[in-house]
Amino acid sequence: MNQKNAGCPVCGADVIFDEDIVNGELVVCSECGLELEVTSTSPLILKEAPQEAEDWGE
Ligand SMILES: [Zn+2]
Repeated sequence: MNQKNAGCPVCGADVIFDEDIVNGELVVCSECGLELEVTSTSPLILKEAPQEAEDWGE
């Protein structure tokens, strides 16, 4: 099975994906444990997923 990898934008570690990764998919960096969002698959680009941005005003 083919795999892709991209650098974690936070700690720089390689994060490995299956080749069928899609835009918007969330992955967790195995190094820093942060949630990352796939913003592009070709080339593979990651950004830090919003952690507490969604304030629904409970
Ligand atoms: Zn990381």
